[in-house]
Amino acid sequence: MSKVSRVKGTQDFLDLELYNFIIDKVRDHLLVYYFTEIATPILEHTALFTRSLGEHTDVVSKEMFTITTEHDDNLICLRPEATASIARAFIENSVTTTPWKVFTHGPMFRHERPQRGRYREFHQVDMEIIGSKSVAQDVHLIKMLDRLFHEQFQIQEYALLINFLGCASDRVSYEVGLKKFLDSLGDALCDTCLVRKEKNILRIFDCKNPTCQSLYLDAPYITESLCSQCVGEWQQMQDQLSLLSVSFVCKPTLVRGLDYYNKTVFEFVSNALGAQSAFCAGGRYDGLVGLIGGKESHPSVGAALGVERLMIILESFRNELQLPTLPVLHAMMPLSEKQQSLALLLADLLQAAGFAVELFLEGDSLKSMMRKANKMGAGYCLLLGDDEQQENMVTVKNMVNGAENRVPQVDVVKHLKL
Ligand code: ATP
Ligand code: MG
Repeated sequence: MSKVSRVKGTQDFLDLELYNFIIDKVRDHLLVYYFTEIATPILEHTALFTRSLGEHTDVVSKEMFTITTEHDDNLICLRPEATASIARAFIENSVTTTPWKVFTHGPMFRHERPQRGRYREFHQVDMEIIGSKSVAQDVHLIKMLDRLFHEQFQIQEYALLINFLGCASDRVSYEVGLKKFLDSLGDALCDTCLVRKEKNILRIFDCKNPTCQSLYLDAPYITESLCSQCVGEWQQMQDQLSLLSVSFVCKPTLVRGLDYYNKTVFEFVSNALGAQSAFCAGGRYDGLVGLIGGKESHPSVGAALGVERLMIILESFRNELQLPTLPVLHAMMPLSEKQQSLALLLADLLQAAGFAVELFLEGDSLKSMMRKANKMGAGYCLLLGDDEQQENMVTVKNMVNGAENRVPQVDVVKHLKL
């Protein structure tokens, strides 16, 4: 029969050591900043994302995994991101204590062209601060992330890019000016930019076409058309980041792919990732809660960390990471089938006392069991043959120095604890 393969763009993780290391470190770090861990469903109504991310964003227009149900007006989908879900959970559960500082992690789904660092099912850690209007909160969040990457993960080379998209009215007037500028370029733009000009104008800056990019060097920048309050906040953000010794680069063309962002936007990028350079991204989204039905305004800020991309970065210096050490392994070896029951009992005794035990039950020769134990990096082998069985003993072989001891079975826990 032909084999059934993985769905395109998905991965099997046969070793979760690095993945779990990342999640554990992030969890510990976020608790220091008083975030609470939550979980929301992977299935959501498609409308949640069309309304919040924007119909003309890449994620909604091209990348959604939508599940057709009998009721067409009630489409559901596999979540492409978690911010909208968290905002929905905030409203739906009538959370009243703000700022609501929460994080979650898990799989996200986007129908993209798979490549290194880009999958159709990928994982994010998502952290959100719902109901907080101060720019200082953005600074606090960014500093928290910078400390995470620098201190917890010891990543040496990465950059933080920031930009400020202003408030809703700044954006409207800026978009008018940008449209005028683009119109003046006529057909010189690529087809994608011509569409984006009409549908999602800020995204023209993400164009990969070198001709477009050189034309946009003369484009007006949003930070040049901020209202006085936003000018103040943008300056405050830069000043406070400097105060906290966070290095950053202002990138006036950083706009982010989702419509709900306003004011602060940022990305952490690394050269180790090639074209998919961003491993964490976020920003402020003051209007999102209102867009999905919140009664009051709840200005918010958050970020999402791409776990697979962080894994790529960490893989290059995995040996230097302080990955959790595995417990010493004890290989329990019945030398024939007759000793299997005894081996089961003795393994149970050791496991109850907290020792890690691998029990060899396949009837292999001693030589082959020893080879396997070596490969597993076992610290001790416990041999049970006819002699041991008759004398209620077990032979304990120290795999590091080769020393062998015959120990009464009743004393084996005591012996191994020494
Ligand atoms: P990109 O520009 O790389 O497509 P994005 O702007 O679409 O990223 P966000 O929606 O901001 O990404 O998601 C936050 C982070 O999640 C990204 O910075 C990235 O690290 C990760 N990420 C996004 N899409 C994917 C994907 N398809 N596969 C793996 N990681 C992803
Ligand atoms: Mg994307």
